[in-house]
Amino acid sequence: DSTDYDNEVQSVCPFCGVGCQVSLKLKDGKVKYVEGINGPANEGRLCVKGRFGYDYIHHPHRLTKPLIRLENAPKEMAVDPANPFTHFREATWEEALDAAANGLGGLRDSYGGPSVAGFGSAKCTNEEAYLFQKLIRQGFGHNNVDHCTRLCHASSVAALMENVGSGAVTATFNEIENADVAIVIGANPSENHPVAATYFKQFAKRGGKLIIMDPRGTAMKRHAEHMVQFRPGTDVALLNAIMCVIVEEGLYDQSYIDQHTENWEAEKQHLAGFAPEKMAEICGIDAQTIRTVARDFASAEAGMIFWGMGVSQHIHGTDNSRCLISLALMTGNVGKPGAGLHPLRGQNNVQGASDAGLIPMFLPDYQDVTDDKIRGHFNKIWGTDDFSNQKGLTVTEILDGVHAGEIKGMYVLGENPAMSDPDVTHAREALAKLECLVVQDIFLTETANYADVVLPAAAFYEKNGTVTNTNRQVQMGRAAATPPGEAREDWAITVALAQKLGLDWTYTHPSQVFAEMKEGMPSLDNITWDRLEGENAVTYPSLSPEDPGQAIVFGDEFPRAGGRAKFTPADVIPPDEAPDADYPMIMTTGRQLEHWHTGSMTRRSTVLDAIEPEANCSLHPSTLRKLGVQVGDKVKLETRRGSITLLAREDRAVSPDMVFVPFAYVEAAANVLTNPALDPYGKIPEFKFAAVKVSAL
Ligand code: SF4
Repeated sequence: DSTDYDNEVQSVCPFCGVGCQVSLKLKDGKVKYVEGINGPANEGRLCVKGRFGYDYIHHPHRLTKPLIRLENAPKEMAVDPANPFTHFREATWEEALDAAANGLGGLRDSYGGPSVAGFGSAKCTNEEAYLFQKLIRQGFGHNNVDHCTRLCHASSVAALMENVGSGAVTATFNEIENADVAIVIGANPSENHPVAATYFKQFAKRGGKLIIMDPRGTAMKRHAEHMVQFRPGTDVALLNAIMCVIVEEGLYDQSYIDQHTENWEAEKQHLAGFAPEKMAEICGIDAQTIRTVARDFASAEAGMIFWGMGVSQHIHGTDNSRCLISLALMTGNVGKPGAGLHPLRGQNNVQGASDAGLIPMFLPDYQDVTDDKIRGHFNKIWGTDDFSNQKGLTVTEILDGVHAGEIKGMYVLGENPAMSDPDVTHAREALAKLECLVVQDIFLTETANYADVVLPAAAFYEKNGTVTNTNRQVQMGRAAATPPGEAREDWAITVALAQKLGLDWTYTHPSQVFAEMKEGMPSLDNITWDRLEGENAVTYPSLSPEDPGQAIVFGDEFPRAGGRAKFTPADVIPPDEAPDADYPMIMTTGRQLEHWHTGSMTRRSTVLDAIEPEANCSLHPSTLRKLGVQVGDKVKLETRRGSITLLAREDRAVSPDMVFVPFAYVEAAANVLTNPALDPYGKIPEFKFAAVKVSAL
């Protein structure tokens, strides 16, 4: 009913990487409700988060003024949950920016640029991510800048860069409509990418073979041809066994392999050691099922592979992705309709923030920071002499660097490491040790509790800028509401801080930043701000000013030397922490449909919080019986790093030796328990496997 609202603005959902386009209906300057519109990724659809997760922007907890920590106020979590502002005083922007610039700039001048690190955010726009990494590189002269991609798909990107030459998807998820078979592994799209899941279900309904592989049964399994519920942490054993069958039975695509790949003979020889009969014992899937799955995938005309954090968040996450890439290559399933590799991205702009260079080893467009020619190009664009040619530290390495006394100051924009990092007690202790912590956010987050200076930022629906979804679709986000009080858009705050640090930045609109990004990012060729204003979305690569963009890439050649993709064999590596007599069960963590990451937005969204108000964990009915616990009782979860208490739920989808814990609840933060052991290539922590003890209270 058009009388319900007096204004309407089109933007993009702020939550997951699907990137649904929305129409925000406003009355008296406030969002009243949200509808899906015809974006390329959602075609009018929205999930419960997109539809109801909007009123957090009008929440009374929003930061409206800059804050400065009171002298001698202790740095600790949740000072007074009822009034978290007790350790801060309000300040003017001038005063707060001076404090931030003097604090961080002073550390740079006393200890050198590398003593300051930055965490940017995949919740920010492309322009904001670009400016943030530029500030650290130009203002502090080095590359200690990272963001939450390190905690989600860093290992997938490491494997894709190594073997395909590009970290982005080779085909949009909508291409599933042209596929005959699709593997979804280590992902729970019904909860985490719900609109993408609707396409997967439609695919199955029209006869496509959906193969779900996951240690936890997912809601999509009822649509699946095969539900392969393998033992946690045994992905490589399962995938190598599948590929071994394909080799044994000659089901591989020799002509594709000859034309487009390298290192096949080594891969083939390696796979001979992974007979399904041998791997069945490790992965818990019988050899016959492995053979059937292998035949179904390899004999199809076109197949897609989707994966999520169940694959990436392991110490062998890169190896897991290497196997998936090899499976696609050996069956010729890249670069044609209905085929491709698609790591499902988590945040709404994690693809764009990574593309924009918010990572310690790459400049924008994944250009090597150690390459003098590439750095020279950016020096020319930025008007700088030079900055470090050393790769910077990653998210968890930066916090370790604080404990080691090497990192003394941090600028954190929109990230919440006091909740999101593995072993958060260690992370919180690091934040408390910093000599200067500047946090820029929309709420006084758990991380902001430790800040010296807090800068109030605009929420996503209050700012203009572009974002890039899991499909490589660059989309225009538009401001619908005015930020509360004195809160400002993130790009504007970063510009003001840069000026205080002595940089002569003159940007007055994000479109100017986008224009500069294009000078260093070939991926944005033929995509302009004006075009995005008019068309809302353009997929990269776009081959001409009229081309809406390429849904499928690498049909002819791969962006690697020689134009070929590579097979990299992977071995079975056990999880870092095996269950034992003290901690006999396996804990895995993730999201649930209604809540987003550390909960700062969705737990302040009325409808979403009403549906899921309490911290909970999922246990198999037989485990509940064994513990003598009823559904709704409290249980204690304990690992070598700490313990939490939360409600027990019955869930037949988890095996009797597993417990699943969502990580959105501060009162029972799952990351108190998680293992910080890292994948050596992607430097991603093993969030998906920790030895745990569960007991009744
Ligand atoms: Fe938002 Fe993702 Fe839901 Fe779409 S699927 S409405 S992008 S949370």
